[in-house]
Amino acid sequence: MSIARFWRETPRRYNLGGSKCLTCGTVAFPPRVVCPTCTHHRQSIGKMAPFQLSGEGEVESFTIVHDPAEGFEMQVPYVLALVRTPEGPRLTGQIVDVEPESVAIGLKVHATFRKLREEGKAGVIHYGYKFAPTGEDEPPPPRAPAVAARAEGAVRDRAEA
Ligand SMILES: [Zn+2]
Repeated sequence: MSIARFWRETPRRYNLGGSKCLTCGTVAFPPRVVCPTCTHHRQSIGKMAPFQLSGEGEVESFTIVHDPAEGFEMQVPYVLALVRTPEGPRLTGQIVDVEPESVAIGLKVHATFRKLREEGKAGVIHYGYKFAPTGEDEPPPPRAPAVAARAEGAVRDRAEA
C-alpha cells in the first residue's frame, strides 16, 4: 500500500470505528464489547459488530479554550465541542478551519484527520480526528461595524447632552 493511500485510509479505519449492537442497534464509540444499552448485558455478548461512523455531526455544545493543555500552546484560542452524530454517539473534538466566534450550536461539521499535537524533542506526532464545518449552514449575517459605531456614538451623544 502506498503511503498516501495508507494515510487516506487510516482515518476511516482507525479513527471513527465504533461498534453496533445487533440486538438493539445502539452504536457506541469508542467500540464496546458489551452493549451499554441492553438491559441484560449478556444479550449483547458476541453480537457487537464493528461499525464505522460517518464523521458527520452537529455541534451540540462548545467551549472556547484560552488556556491550552500541554502540547496545544500554538493553537489558542481553540474551540472544543461536543458533536452529536446522526448514528447516536457524541464525540468530543476540536473545531478547526473556522474562527472561534463563528462556531455556534447546530453548526454542521464533519470529521477530518489532523495532527493533534507534538510531543517533546523527539517530535512524536499524534494524529486523530478534528471537526471542520461542512459549509452547509447559512452564512452568518454580515457584520456592519460602521452602523454599530454610529449607534454607539448616538448613545454617547445623548448621554452627554
Ligand atoms: Zn444492545
